[in-house]
Amino acid sequence: MNTEFNLNELKATERLPSPSGTALAIMQLVQQKDATAQQVSQLVKVDPALSGRILRFANSAAFGARRPIADVQSAVMMMGMQAVRNFALSLSLISDNGKGHCPAFNYEIYWSRSLAMSVAIAAITARERTVVPEESFTIGLLADIGSLALATAWSEVYGECLGKAEGKQLLALERERFAIDHNALTLMLLEDWGFPAIFLDALRLSFEMKVAGISRTDQFARQLVLARLIGEYCVSDDVQRTVLLPDLIAEAGLHEMDEQALLAFVDNAIEVWHEWGKLIDVKTDVRQSLLKPDTALEPALPGLDILLVDDDPMMLARLSKQLVASGNRVAVCRNGESALKHVIECGPQLVITDWRMKPMDGLALCKALRASSFSKNIYLIMLTSTEDEDALVEAFDAGIDDYVTKPISLRVLLARLRAAQRIIMLQNELEKESRDIQRYTAELAAANRRLKSMANTDVLTGLPNRRYALNRLEQESATALRANQALSVLMVDLDHFKSVNDTLGHDVGDQVLVHAAGLMRATARTNDIVCRLGGEEFLVIAPNTDSATAMLLAERIRRSIEKAQPKGLALRYPVTVSIGVAGAVGAKPSWKDLIKWADDALYLVKQGKRNGVRLASQN
Ligand code: GH3
Ligand code: MG
Ligand code: MG
Repeated sequence: MNTEFNLNELKATERLPSPSGTALAIMQLVQQKDATAQQVSQLVKVDPALSGRILRFANSAAFGARRPIADVQSAVMMMGMQAVRNFALSLSLISDNGKGHCPAFNYEIYWSRSLAMSVAIAAITARERTVVPEESFTIGLLADIGSLALATAWSEVYGECLGKAEGKQLLALERERFAIDHNALTLMLLEDWGFPAIFLDALRLSFEMKVAGISRTDQFARQLVLARLIGEYCVSDDVQRTVLLPDLIAEAGLHEMDEQALLAFVDNAIEVWHEWGKLIDVKTDVRQSLLKPDTALEPALPGLDILLVDDDPMMLARLSKQLVASGNRVAVCRNGESALKHVIECGPQLVITDWRMKPMDGLALCKALRASSFSKNIYLIMLTSTEDEDALVEAFDAGIDDYVTKPISLRVLLARLRAAQRIIMLQNELEKESRDIQRYTAELAAANRRLKSMANTDVLTGLPNRRYALNRLEQESATALRANQALSVLMVDLDHFKSVNDTLGHDVGDQVLVHAAGLMRATARTNDIVCRLGGEEFLVIAPNTDSATAMLLAERIRRSIEKAQPKGLALRYPVTVSIGVAGAVGAKPSWKDLIKWADDALYLVKQGKRNGVRLASQN
């Protein structure tokens, strides 16, 4: 399905969410220049449910209605025809798409979130004027309609996508499967339904999450980003809300709201959201959990691996039964020593320990756990029969995170476990982030190594390049000087190479270069460094080698190239090389002189018959 996406074709299959008859009629009417509020209200009145809702909408405190509005026509006048039209459109989409066939798509959460977003955007635009709140409301409601459309048009395949990916990855997967992602489809549908450009532009910007700029569109886009986060927050369970809150606070900062103002704002939005939910039949008591998206209707935490330590077997039995019943996995130990052993072997997430035990009491157990590196992060809850201040301070100093007094109230204990769980989850996330950072650092280091090696390698032949050759020669020269050892270089140049290019083309020229480079590398000794200086010129650095030995090496290279001609190429000249050799012992001459001498010797070979080797005259 990777061809161009075509909205009209898809519409023709009638597999997209589409406005009802009344909504469509209102949309068409409003499009006409001379449409009047009276005509619009006549159409609205055809649908009693719509009429009722529009009256409620117009009278909604959320939009600051000053006086009661009793008839549809006044409502239409008050709201404006555009707002009526968009509202009718949204309602018709909700009533037709409350359920659907896409298994992984949670229709209830979808509408609930959309409604929360629209309540939020209406409240934000009422606060900082950019667009009329009545109009921003419907943009909020339809801001993610592309997702619903994908779920409707391709329920099965989209269900698979949702199971596999989220966030940016989901967008990429959608583009791969449907040739369009849900954000782009949202914009396309809204455009098709006649929403004005400023709405579309702002919505497009808001998908990027980070909006700069100060135009009205930019401001509206930022408002949409905040509203979307609030929408997400509304339908999240407690754990996920904790995770979302920092982003929300940061985003609210751009709207001159501090944390307190934000929370008050959100509380108010939640109240209005519930009211709206009743009004237009959208559920607002649904919650999604971070861990089980779409399925959890109750705030269900995944349960903890708990170790329960108490020397009272009755207590152990009763408490562990209750903890298991509330979804945790529980192990029990009768004393501190066996508890330590269990922690080492099984690594529970949380330990609940009694204080008074023998021989090792709860305090000693906590100290021992805190002292060891594998359990220093474990969450510790102490059961105490006292709230004596000194005792509690002693317990906290020993490393407990929390305490519960006996007799134990199960409700309180479970509430504290939920608090513990939030912390444990955040801690896990931090650890994961830190592991990710370590991984990225390692990947970065590897990428840097690759880059470095690329900077030193000739791409065509894989040999070290000129840059490397000259650095290396300088180093080898310094080593030779220190150790008073010999050092030789071979300057190698292919003969009549230009004619290869000229007669058979550049690609064949490249093949010949690779061929000759391979032979040089194979013929040279392990310690020799064969480099490509550029074009058809090579340099062989031969450490710890005097000039006589270097001459032998040069001759071996020359001969191997002469002998092993590349197969299947109609070359005018056989592939041969000319080689100039220069060697030195200790300081004289410098490495630059060495190269120059070898080059001079090479020049003399080229003056003659080529395909030969020559020692520099200075040697
Ligand atoms: P001589 O025997 O005197 O060395 O003659 P020559 O033709 O080998 O030398 P000349 O320096 O005149 O030509 C070298 C040619 O090498 C010129 C250039 O087009 C070609 N060349 C340089 N780099 C590359 C390359 O990476 N690939 C290919 N195919 N040709 C290259
Ligand atoms: Mg040449
Ligand atoms: Mg040359």
